[in-house]
Amino acid sequence: MVDFRIGIGYDIHRLAEGRKLILAGVEVPHTQGLQGHSDADVVCHALCDALLGAAAFGDIGTHFPDTDERYAGSYSVKLLCDVLELVKNAGYEVSNVDVTIHAERPKLQSYISEMRRVLAEALQIPIDRVSLKAKTNEKMDAIGRCEAIAATAVALIYKS
Ligand code: MG
Repeated sequence: MVDFRIGIGYDIHRLAEGRKLILAGVEVPHTQGLQGHSDADVVCHALCDALLGAAAFGDIGTHFPDTDERYAGSYSVKLLCDVLELVKNAGYEVSNVDVTIHAERPKLQSYISEMRRVLAEALQIPIDRVSLKAKTNEKMDAIGRCEAIAATAVALIYKS
């Protein structure tokens, strides 16, 4: 019998001047970047929470507290690799992940394939098991006013 477990993750960060915009480990040219203790990569953070959620291992804040100087400015793809290791050490494999980025600007379509490649490599799964989509917020709320970018992720893991 295969033991399947699903998890969901969400993250949002504020956009600010003078920061690089890093999404799924890829630097996207933009006038602003996401503010945070690490590189504020909402895609990686949402995926970390989806994987941790699937294994019922708490959340990213439990494992990588933003008060911990070791994670200051850190490249969040590394956090994703660390989370994968936790999940794998518990005997799970990743089946697939699906992510939606919520961003009014910039247009992300031309970066999606590179982002999928980075995530697939970090998660040690084929690229056809990594889905990534980008949606605007129809100019509504903080995301629609270009004050923030968010990401929602689901992950399916299994143990045979
Ligand atoms: Mg975050």
